[in-house]
Amino acid sequence: MLLQLLTISVVISTGIAEYKNYDGFKILEVNFQNPRVKKYVQEIDKNLGFMPDFLGENWKQKQAHYFIDKDSVEKVRSNLAMNNITYQMRDVNPQLFKVRRKRRDLNGVVTINDVNNRYLSYDEQMQFLNTLSQQYPDDVKLQKLGNSYEGRALTAVRIGDDGSNKPIVWIDAGVHAREWISYNVALYLVYTIVTQPVYRDLLNSVQLIVVPNTNPDGYEYSRTNDRMWRKTRSRFSNSRCGGADANRNYPFFWGTQGVSHHQCSEIYCGSRPQSEPEVLALTNAIQREETRIKGYIALHSYGQEILYPWGHTMHTYPSDVKDLIRVGKAMAKAIKAVNNTDYNVVNSGDGLYPAAGASDDWAKSRGIKYSYTIELSPVDDYTGFVLPEERINQVCREAFQAIQVLMIEVKTMFGIRSVTSSASSAQSSLLLKHMRSTISRGFGRG
Ligand SMILES: [Zn+2]
Repeated sequence: MLLQLLTISVVISTGIAEYKNYDGFKILEVNFQNPRVKKYVQEIDKNLGFMPDFLGENWKQKQAHYFIDKDSVEKVRSNLAMNNITYQMRDVNPQLFKVRRKRRDLNGVVTINDVNNRYLSYDEQMQFLNTLSQQYPDDVKLQKLGNSYEGRALTAVRIGDDGSNKPIVWIDAGVHAREWISYNVALYLVYTIVTQPVYRDLLNSVQLIVVPNTNPDGYEYSRTNDRMWRKTRSRFSNSRCGGADANRNYPFFWGTQGVSHHQCSEIYCGSRPQSEPEVLALTNAIQREETRIKGYIALHSYGQEILYPWGHTMHTYPSDVKDLIRVGKAMAKAIKAVNNTDYNVVNSGDGLYPAAGASDDWAKSRGIKYSYTIELSPVDDYTGFVLPEERINQVCREAFQAIQVLMIEVKTMFGIRSVTSSASSAQSSLLLKHMRSTISRGFGRG
């Protein structure tokens, strides 16, 4: 007994907890092509009496995916049956959730090889950036934007910042902790654009700011305690649940649609706009330079979609939506050219669940012309957020091409220099090609 107590107290004092066990959890898959089913899905919270954890959609198959906890499986099954909804309930592969990550020692140097092949800890991500900034001091400048709730630095990487008035493309990643692939994509982007001389010309005309980890607390928690953690790690004195969905916490139509005001919800929008220190730091940093920022991408997963505003409500678009669609389609085309992967270009509000308070809407509302959310791979399998590490590199290479297209567009539209290389004029002509401007139906943000 004494030994047991001692063991328990040691466990508590060292903060070691078991990695959250997902045995018995299920993936619910509903095909919503049928309007009756779609209506059921859009009101699933009312139908079930709670909002299940919405994972994302497969736009190719028109399927919605939810993560159902083991205690709700029977209730969900009987409600679906009662409403005559056809569905599939798949077992979660518990192995996918059992690879608990440890904080690695930082003895070894973290290289691009690591970025391409495995998910890094926050400390490793920062070490990778520090090394790059030492190797390329003129090109890579690290800027601290603020601290996370638990005190981790929120770091922006400024690339091609020569003190001039160049237009800026802003990329941020990983506001949702469980979307691990987004961090690697951001680090790969920084490395590739700095180390490959072919991008020098582009960087002479456009500055790039990358925030590779916008939710370090949540990410570390996802690595060490709960693989499916999505939110920040802020704590509230009056609740057993912590964290807010930082991508529902931006100050634009905050709290209106597609959010929850309950602290335990995965889509809790926070107590007020910018209640999360991470969101406050990011919005402050963007506002300081917003007249120069012409492109914005928030990297998320999963779903293989390029989403454009507005997302806070349905059937509402910015006046220049044709430009957003044109460049979105050029990005999708560039992705497809890498390995034939299909990304869908869609409005983010027209899907199953509009969602207010997201970063891309807010960025657009601040006058940033090209504002997108990219839902990275996969789309068509059940690994979801747990993208196997052997697929990291391909997703990075694909997303890089999309970001390059956006930078070239910004250079063409807003660049202060007009130096052209053959590579960039080829890309520009791709952009200028007449493209179908029908507004596609969208899906929700993962
Ligand atoms: Zn996300």
